[in-house]
Amino acid sequence: MNKLTRHFIDNAWVASRATQCLDVIDPYRETRIAEVTAGDPADVDDAVAAARRALPGWRDLSGEHRGAFIDAIAEALEARRTSLVELSSRNNGKPRAEADQDLADAIACYRYYAGQARALDARQGETVDTGETGLVSRRYQDPVGVAGLITPWNFPLVSSAWKLAPALAAGCTVVFKPSEVTPLPEQALAEIALEIGLPSGVFNLLHGDGRGVGAALTAHPGVDKLSFTGSNPVGEAVMAAAARGTRNVSLELGGKSPILVTEDADPALATELVLAGFAYNAGQMCSATSRLLVHESVADELHARLDAAIAGLVAGDPHAPSTTLGPLVNAAQRERVEEYLATAEAEGLDPTARAPIALPEHGHFVAPRVYRDVPVTSRLWQEEIFGPVLCTRTVKNDDEAVTLANDSAFGLAATVVAGTTERAEALAGRLTSGNVWCNTHQVAPPGLGWGGMKGSGIGRELGRAGLDAYLETRYVTRPS
Ligand code: NAD
Repeated sequence: MNKLTRHFIDNAWVASRATQCLDVIDPYRETRIAEVTAGDPADVDDAVAAARRALPGWRDLSGEHRGAFIDAIAEALEARRTSLVELSSRNNGKPRAEADQDLADAIACYRYYAGQARALDARQGETVDTGETGLVSRRYQDPVGVAGLITPWNFPLVSSAWKLAPALAAGCTVVFKPSEVTPLPEQALAEIALEIGLPSGVFNLLHGDGRGVGAALTAHPGVDKLSFTGSNPVGEAVMAAAARGTRNVSLELGGKSPILVTEDADPALATELVLAGFAYNAGQMCSATSRLLVHESVADELHARLDAAIAGLVAGDPHAPSTTLGPLVNAAQRERVEEYLATAEAEGLDPTARAPIALPEHGHFVAPRVYRDVPVTSRLWQEEIFGPVLCTRTVKNDDEAVTLANDSAFGLAATVVAGTTERAEALAGRLTSGNVWCNTHQVAPPGLGWGGMKGSGIGRELGRAGLDAYLETRYVTRPS
């Protein structure tokens, strides 16, 4: 039995002060594969102190030097890729191919920010046009300081890469708390830090849950910057904690994203994108496009194709190459989704397919469900379900599609499937979403930004904006 009862602080494995441990499970076999400490606020004090001690040295390294360490993280992940895919798939339940895609995304993210660390050096001291004669100004960017990073369980090693890589590139030192649900793959980051000789205290990893570590980390006055990905209620608590001391905060929260299908869309492409939008990772995606708005003239055909595509999904062992649908991450998540299915029934909503797909006898599976003509007042239409559940409505025209798409408390992502990319882009311009994919899958290359409008969060990860989230800007102005 793997016991994760030690944190990684100051480049050493340090026993947690907590006595309570939590089970880490394999959601396919429904077996306990490890236990992880719940963590203790005193552990947070130690980790933050280590990060503070390491800050001056790390901040003063050149971007070139920091970039070399970040590149080394990418290389170390690449070297462990097969075993990490296996571990992530086992701990999270996602099919092996999806876990491999996660590794590819994480590695690309570290490589991108290695380059950004180097580019940051070149930008320091750039002249800024003051617009005034006789005045010159130069712009510098400094790391915010110690960053507290908190991630969820749905994309292990990816959500952490999106925070850790830019934080290290910027010159911040970090205290990272991965989800207690998927601590196994993230533990590799600490092993890698040791292996590549990252200076002590630059990267600290605290295992634990929200009560043991998360809340204490967000409240700690020694943390200058909080970056959180997770649910809205916890995100709001993190923001409230950041208010004390007026500390910098980035939030990547939930979504209820739309997918628009116009009457001239390619039906095969539309089917593929709709299915992936709500069933990839068993629907456990903040960016899941779980509200379909389809033109009334093609709705019947799309639904027929969709039902056939869902019937072709293979639910099973995440490690089997034939598996295309894994279990949800744990029993609590499955129960949450099943509550929504019960709500649908109580509201008189019927799934489109006559019978759900066959599921293995064990594992926290939920068969994908599609509900047609869901009222906009339904909880299923409005709330993030985080499971393979699609709500659909037919629309008469583009205006109605756009109005319904934007009628949401969230604004993270959207997909448009239209006959031409020009038409899709024109519709994209009318959507209140941080990312809109036109006639293509949900991609998140590191050079773009990621983040939401409205209730989906504050700030952007990835791209230059993702680096700026860990930097303060300083203008130095003098007579010319
Ligand atoms: P969660 O909010 O329950 O937990 C997220 C993290 O916060 C975990 O590490 C958890 O231990 C920690 N935490 C819990 N209570 C805390 C507290 N009081 N203070 C500080 N930290 C605390 O979310 P989850 O169930 O792990 O993940 C699912 C949610 O994450 C969904 O709502 C999803 O939309 C969201 N999400 C958003 C994005 C995005 O990019 N916008 C990406 C992935 C997931």
